[in-house]
Amino acid sequence: MSLKIPQEVISCSNFINGQWIKGEAGSHIITSPYNGKKIGEVSTPTLAQIKSALKIASEAQIEWGKSPLKERARVLFNFRNILIRDTDAISHLKASESGKTFEEGKAGLLKGIEVLEYALSLQNIDVGGRLEVSRGVSCEYRRIPLGVVANITPFNFPAMVPMWTIPIAIALGNAYVWKPSDKTPLTSIWIANALKEAGLPDGLFTVLHGGAETVNAVIEAPEVKAIGFVGSTKIAELVYKKATSLGKRALCMGGAKNHIVLLPDATPEIAGVGISDSFTGCAGQRCMAASVLLAVGDVNKHIEKIMARASSLVLGKDMGAIITKSQRDFLVEAIGRAEKMGAKVLLDGRKVKAPVGMEEGNWIGPTILDNVQPGSEAQKVELFGPIISIIRCKDISEAMMIQNTSEYGNACSVFTNSGALAERVIREAKAGMVGVNVGVPVPREPFSFGGIAASKFGSGDITGEHSLDFWSDIKKVTTKWEKQNDNNWMS
Ligand code: NAD
Repeated sequence: MSLKIPQEVISCSNFINGQWIKGEAGSHIITSPYNGKKIGEVSTPTLAQIKSALKIASEAQIEWGKSPLKERARVLFNFRNILIRDTDAISHLKASESGKTFEEGKAGLLKGIEVLEYALSLQNIDVGGRLEVSRGVSCEYRRIPLGVVANITPFNFPAMVPMWTIPIAIALGNAYVWKPSDKTPLTSIWIANALKEAGLPDGLFTVLHGGAETVNAVIEAPEVKAIGFVGSTKIAELVYKKATSLGKRALCMGGAKNHIVLLPDATPEIAGVGISDSFTGCAGQRCMAASVLLAVGDVNKHIEKIMARASSLVLGKDMGAIITKSQRDFLVEAIGRAEKMGAKVLLDGRKVKAPVGMEEGNWIGPTILDNVQPGSEAQKVELFGPIISIIRCKDISEAMMIQNTSEYGNACSVFTNSGALAERVIREAKAGMVGVNVGVPVPREPFSFGGIAASKFGSGDITGEHSLDFWSDIKKVTTKWEKQNDNNWMS
């Protein structure tokens, strides 16, 4: 479907106590990466507004935390139906502000809805445990909410990344505070309105806009017990250190530099599509994008397939735009620096033409760099654009050695038809998510999402079963109602 970019400027306020409240600290404009036109204006709250919002959230959480999970799930079920009803409208807006294609915008929302469906299933699968541990004495687990929790999200998935945590944290009985990316805040209007329409009591869902000032105020607030973060490694580490130094629970997902190991026995058609789509999807602006191709032995016929698919993409239709002009310029300069270091530009995205009528957008085409040197910027640094760096390797040992030098550890994939070689990559890859013949190895629910090394600060994962203990506490209850006659030490 062709993308509908908003024609009118959307005014975006802060969602506090179920109302849209204009932030009094200032405002900034949002332009579409597609055409550079102003599509929104967002206001940021003052410290006093933030403090008041968090107090309201904390008060609202008390009753919500006491309500049974099945009651909370009913609200989330309505939320799901509203998101399904409004999928197209939300997808158009999120794509318009982040530079995705309509289909990518829709896919991200559907993945978010999948997490929501997982949260709905908690009423049936996360039922705790109870055991008679001694005569007349039983122990049980009860999951309890934390209170107010906060989450800070990046520009590249304006709905999916927030939806990784909103349904689970709210289902577990918390009040939720969201600080969306200052670059893509407009989608928050739809999410907040959908929760309100679904029947979520006022105060349980708060949206606060802005940058570092808002984030710092939220971390420092005594009401906020846990902080989730998704964004670049630099800010993830900063947020993690600040939150944990204040004794808060924090889980901060960072950047990535994902390597793909391409072996000569791989099926060229599968590798061609999988690898091309991985580095060009979302114009390379996703933490699961392929970034380095470790080409083992003679894989030229595979690389031809990757080239053919990547060069057939039509900008503005099959591939979207880069979030800002400065990021687009950074990508162009990075390609130039790689060239100076000896890389051969097999496919040059610098030479593309902007789609007609979108000349003011931030455009760059798919770029394939060959003969990239291990240790150079093109191998080590997260560029965050549709660029893949090919490093020629004599064998799989060399490929794994290079992959292991990455400071990041989000994803790694291997393309092969050998189970044994795939297993070797799975074992040796320094990555939290590994794919076999899959270019973007995002685990589907209920399998949780999360990297390792500099791609994550904190323990557990951000979705699925491994996120539950982050957004809640476990109370252990030991009960005895009758006097027992035996001499058991517990009786
Ligand atoms: P970013 O780190 O610039 O911003 C993320 C969030 O932090 C935004 O809400 C932003 O407003 C806020 N922020 C910015 N500066 C801050 C500061 N000094 N103190 C506190 N908060 C601050 O990231 P981005 O450019 O929006 O997103 C792209 C990055 O996110 C990439 O590095 C990408 O790999 C990463 N990412 C990671 C995952 C993952 O799951 N690991 C998922 C998506 C994106």
